[in-house]
Amino acid sequence: MPFNHPQFEATIGLEIHAQLTTSKKLFCFCSTAYGAEPNASTCPVCTAQPGALPVLNQEAVDLAILAGVALNCKINNTSVFSRKNYFYPDLPKGYQISQFDKPLCSDGHVDIYLNDTTVRINIERIHMEEDAGQSQHHHYGTLINLNRASTPLVEIVSRPEITGAQEAAAYMREVKNILVYAGVNDGNLQEGSLRCDANVSIRPKGQVKLGTRTEIKNVNSFRFLEKAIDYEIARQIQVVVAGGRVVQETRGYDSAKNVTYSMRSKEDAHDYRYFPEPDLLPLLVDQARIDKVSSNMVELPSVRAARYAKDYELPQSITATITSSRALADYYDKLVSIVGDGKLSANWVVGQVLRALKESSPENAAENIEAESAVDPGQLISTERLAELLSLIKEGLINNNIAKTVFDELLTSTASAKEIVSKKGLAQVSDTSLIDKAIDGVLMRCADQVAEYRSGKDKVFGFLVGQVMRELKGKANPTIINDMLKKKL
Ligand code: ZN
Ligand code: MN
Repeated sequence: MPFNHPQFEATIGLEIHAQLTTSKKLFCFCSTAYGAEPNASTCPVCTAQPGALPVLNQEAVDLAILAGVALNCKINNTSVFSRKNYFYPDLPKGYQISQFDKPLCSDGHVDIYLNDTTVRINIERIHMEEDAGQSQHHHYGTLINLNRASTPLVEIVSRPEITGAQEAAAYMREVKNILVYAGVNDGNLQEGSLRCDANVSIRPKGQVKLGTRTEIKNVNSFRFLEKAIDYEIARQIQVVVAGGRVVQETRGYDSAKNVTYSMRSKEDAHDYRYFPEPDLLPLLVDQARIDKVSSNMVELPSVRAARYAKDYELPQSITATITSSRALADYYDKLVSIVGDGKLSANWVVGQVLRALKESSPENAAENIEAESAVDPGQLISTERLAELLSLIKEGLINNNIAKTVFDELLTSTASAKEIVSKKGLAQVSDTSLIDKAIDGVLMRCADQVAEYRSGKDKVFGFLVGQVMRELKGKANPTIINDMLKKKL
């Protein structure tokens, strides 16, 4: 939803840093595994010892190409690594090897589905770069951990055309989803595998020139990104309305207080003294290599969603939800292959399975991740067990409401759906003589409502169905009740 203010509009551009799923660093053979002892995964190259030289990790290049293809980018045959110079304790070389004027990928886009509309967000460029190390601040001083130094990243830079916080978060979620589908990123925001800088500015409606922007640094949560941007837009409007000027600066987000705060005045590109990295040749990527990498492309979420819509006639709101995580979409595909009913399976996956997933992981629910890729719904309930339950519905043995009760039981017990239904006597009453008896009882007892119905008050019908269902303890087939009741009336 675009941000809505009577006088001002917001413009947002995102820079998403995504860690590539290589086991080795970008310019040396150190491990990228998360959680190693501090400085255990280091060597003379990534700690910048004199004379050490970088060697480019070709697997990282292929993954970066795959990211570019997945995000609809043009892959440039020649790209160049540059030195981005700045001084910081966790950057031992005194510069970061990145790409500047000649990035690996350019001109891509992502379509996001938000509030029943599809919005296209254009991507300006994707470049490769190495990560910096980490400063760990303690009361006795600051310690440096260089395990993360030189971890391979892609930086995905959107065009400044996002119009609100919700749209920004939806875009970041979709980028994450696509990268996880493609196997380029592990989607682990908590471990910092995906983090985002947001450039935010406001301007009076109708003004062509963009306002002065601030940059919110290193947000690694969809929820916090949304809150930080909302806060920052409101803050900038307040500054301008009070007659002040927005200062170009880098800001942090304090999630505990839900505020952004000034960190430092923002550098311009020329402050970084970029120049081509003399220790690395230009990166040449020919079409054969791009084709080879593209041939490994999986079915991406938008393609899958279109397939579901076509094959099972599902609405976009449902296909978008199912494909919002690869684990969920894979689960759905497997379920349909057993049950043979795309619609019934979809109803259960976006209904009960998602509910159970959210309850099992309140953290993900708060993050508004439809289903975290790390959580496989198969761990809650296997597709085989759920398929058996759905087959009981299809056979008319139980109705939907009873099935929900059985589903909850399946989550905690090892019994099968059939066993639960027979043990608890939940099988549906389809013995028409029993239903017939129940209907007669209700018609007698509710003579007033029957009279109302006959005088044209159709609404009363639902009430009467409910009464019959109650007589039968909720175990009857509602369609049969409907038909029989109509006939009798
Ligand atoms: Zn190393
Ligand atoms: Mn960067």
